[in-house]
Parts: sequence; structure tokens; C-alpha cells
Amino acid sequence: MVAHVVPVDPFDLIVFGATGDLARRKLIPALYHRFRDGQMPDGARVVGVARSDMGEEEYLRTVDSALTEFVEPERLDPETRRRFLSCMGYQQIDAGGELGWEMLKTRLDASDRPVRAFYLSVAPHLFEPIAARTHALGIADERFRLVVEKPFGHDLATARALNRSLSARFPETQIYRIDHYLGKETVQNLMALRFANTLFEPLWNGHHIDHVQITVAETVGITGRGQYYDGVGAMRDMVQNHLLQLLCLVAMEPPARFDPDAVRDEKLKVLRSLAPVTDPLHVVRGQYRCGSRTPSYHDEAERPDSRTESFVALRAEVSNWRWAGVPFYLRTGKRLRSRMSEIVVQFKEAPHSIFRSRSRHPGPNVLCIRLQPNEGIKLGLTIKDPGPGGMRLAPAELDMTFDATLREHGLRMPDAYERLVMDVMRGDQTLFMRGDEVEAAWAWVDPIIADWEDRKDRPHPYDPGSSGPEDALMLLHRDRRRWREIE
Ligand code: NAP
Repeated sequence: MVAHVVPVDPFDLIVFGATGDLARRKLIPALYHRFRDGQMPDGARVVGVARSDMGEEEYLRTVDSALTEFVEPERLDPETRRRFLSCMGYQQIDAGGELGWEMLKTRLDASDRPVRAFYLSVAPHLFEPIAARTHALGIADERFRLVVEKPFGHDLATARALNRSLSARFPETQIYRIDHYLGKETVQNLMALRFANTLFEPLWNGHHIDHVQITVAETVGITGRGQYYDGVGAMRDMVQNHLLQLLCLVAMEPPARFDPDAVRDEKLKVLRSLAPVTDPLHVVRGQYRCGSRTPSYHDEAERPDSRTESFVALRAEVSNWRWAGVPFYLRTGKRLRSRMSEIVVQFKEAPHSIFRSRSRHPGPNVLCIRLQPNEGIKLGLTIKDPGPGGMRLAPAELDMTFDATLREHGLRMPDAYERLVMDVMRGDQTLFMRGDEVEAAWAWVDPIIADWEDRKDRPHPYDPGSSGPEDALMLLHRDRRRWREIE
């Protein structure tokens, strides 16, 4: 087994927000790994941008400390580290003001690298000013790509306004809206499993699938970002983007080609087929209480009367021929029992069990796509319990987890950002959201939030370390189903 590294052209990558949390934890380590694996070409240059008044040397020290903190020690060697740092630079710029822009222009005017990307890892109110200034200075030529982090809008109106503002300045082919869940290996593997094999597709519909569960559970609370989070909530922070994108990949029709518009057209059709959620019993909101050693949501948000949800579970329906009658249950929350993200596709029971009278049937087939931790795919099957003693049935798992196999061969599972940043350099938008997709997702989410506000709905309290509020269990119990354990 060998790792395939597809080289990219030399690039100028300008990272706005280069001293921030995302840049330190994800972007810098991702670039380092790509550099170490020989994918980042020698001529490439990364320029970090922030308002802080620091010289290049001081910035390189912050990059170096990010490497120490967030890259596995066995991947760090002094020579690679030195060569990587020699590709990095710093430019002090106030994205919302005048400071530093002319210097950036001078720097870029002197560069003939064939790719020029701006990565906006800054607060969303700066997306528009950066786009405007970049356009006005004439540094966004045909080599240009703009990478926009989440959140893309706060609701449909703001997302539309941002789309309009960006598309007035750049063609859609230059805009890369990140949803890092799409960069995860297992998520791409779901597409390979569905569309590169003939086994699943004939069964991939309401005749054979009972329901789908998508869970993104976190153990952390809102510590450190309480004020920001309280103005957003789980529905906007997670469901509108990550969970709906995962739902799209499960529910979409096979695209004609694996190219950006073919894939995104199919995802858009799914989003537009989502039935409006009109039954209040189909959505459950929650907010964590204090635990023995953890503060409550209210304490962390510093708003004792906050009605913002830190948990949401809902029942969605994709109204088309393929999915008629198949519920998609989505659930996400903070301070839950464990950190895990997975998609579970539960098939229907066998129509008639010839074994029923002899032993208990272990249950229907389940395809479990695990995004984290232990990325991988498992298919739950029923087999004969081995050995003498008659015909007894037992559950067995077909395990397609590849993390361990990669490790055995001295390879590693790349982080989503490694894949996505290199896709930007290659000019491949397949795993990025198109403007109309983002709007369609908001168009579905907005009325649910508006309904909560109209009814002054209060989230149900839940214990930290639990699976969320009791009512979330009821959401499935009412349909005679059960959530998979969060573990
Ligand atoms: P952060 O830690 O607050 O960092 C913000 C960065 O922006 C800092 O480098 C800051 O440096 C810089 N900055 C602030 N105002 C600026 C200005 N006027 N001009 C130039 N630079 C400015 O934020 P973050 O957590 O890294 O998040 C950045 C973006 O990524 C946000 O949109 C966030 O929603 C998104 N995101 C973050 C994560 C994550 O895990 N952190 C995950 C997904 C998405 P100075 O103060 O020196 O200017």
C-alpha cells in the first residue's frame, strides 16, 4: 500500500486570521503534513495575516509552536520543519481598515505563482470587507480563489446577501465555501461505497431502508465561546451545514460524473426535497444543566434566561420517490456522553424469517459510517453462530475500517483540512458548497427557528454526560425505533 500524492502548482496562500484558533489547530498542521508528504511544491508561499503588530520572525515562532502542539512528534523533524517555515511569511493587515493592504498588493504583484488563494479564517463580519478590498485592489485575477469558513450567513437573508456580494465580485468557480465534514475520508468513502459498487444502490431506497440516523455528539460545552454560541445555537451551528450535508450524501441520486456541478446539483435536489417540519413533536431542543464538575449552559453563556439550544434532534423527510416513508433522524449536541459522529443506515427486517422459531434474530442489517473517532465503515450482518449446537443466529460485523490498515503500512489518515486545502489549489470544488446549496439549507432551517421564536419555545434541560433530553428518545419511540447509543 502506498500513499498517492498528487502534486499541485506553486501557490500563494494568504491566510486571514493566521494567529487564530482554527489556523493554529488545523490549517498550519494541515499545510505541514502536505509539505512533509511532498505535495506542497517548493515554490509555494503561505502568508499569514492578522492585525497584530509582529515581525516575520515572531510569527514564525507562533507557527513553530503550533507545529509542536498539534503535529504528532514522529512527523516532526528539524530539517522538514526548517524548510516548511522557510515557505511561511507574515503581513500585518487590518481586514476592516486600511492598514497593510498596499503591502500585500506589492507582495502579490511581484509573484508569478500560478495559483493565488485567500483563506478567510476570520469572523464572518470580515468576509465582505475582505472580498471588497481584494476586488478593488485588482489582486483577484484569473488565478484567484476565495475560501470562506463557516458560518455562511446567520439565516437565509444574510446568506443571500453574502452570496450576492461575493458573486458581484467573483465568479462562483472562484468561491470555496468550506464544510470540513465533506473533507473527511469516511464521508468520501460513503460516495465510493454507494457509487463504485453495485451492491448497495439497488437497496438504497424506501423499499429496503427503514430509516437513517445522523448523530454528531460532542463532550465539550460552549466554554470560551459562550457569547458567540448563544447568538447561534445548535441548529444554525451544526444542523444547517454539517448534518444537512451528510444527509445529502446519503440521500442524493448518483451524479452523472464525479465533478463539482454534477455532485452539487444532486445535493441541491435533496435539500429542495426536504419536507417542511410542521409538527412541533418532530423537533426537540435541549440545553445542558450543570454537572457535578461542569457549569450549566446558562452559566457559560452568562445569560440566565437564554433560550438558545445546545442540543437538537429532529425528524426530517426527503419527499421524493426514493425516500418516501423513510425518516432521517438528525441529532447533535454539546456536553453529551462521548464525542462521536456517525451515520447509521438501518435496513428493514427480512420479510420472513425461516429461523424465527429456533432462535432470536439479532436484528436487521445496519450500515454504520463512523466519522469520528475510529473513522470507518461497518456493516452489521447476521450469521450462524459457529460451532455445534444447532442453528443459532448471531450478529457479525463486516469491518471496513481502514485506519488500522493504514497504520500497519506506516500511513496515516489525513485530516479533512489537508484534503480541502489541496483541493482549493487544484481548483476542485466538488467537496465545497455552492451558493444555492447553502441558501436551500437555510430555507429549510429558517421556518423551524422562526416557529421556536414565535412560540417562545424553551429548550428541555438535560444532564451533562447523557444522550440529551428524554424527549429526544421519545422522538424515535413514537415511531417504534431507538437511537443508537452515543459511545
Ligand atoms: P479566532 O481564534 O478568534 O481568530 C481570529 C483571527 O482573526 C486572529 O488571527 C485575529 O488576529 C484575526 N483578526 C481579527 N480581526 C481581524 C482584522 N480586522 N483583520 C485581520 N485579522 C483579524 O477565530 P477562529 O476560531 O480561528 O475562527 C476563525 C473563523 O473560522 C471564524 O469564522 C469561525 O467561525 C471559523 N471556524 C472556526 C473553527 C475553529 O475550530 N476554531 C471551526 C470552524 C470554523 P488579530 O486579533 O491579531 O487581528
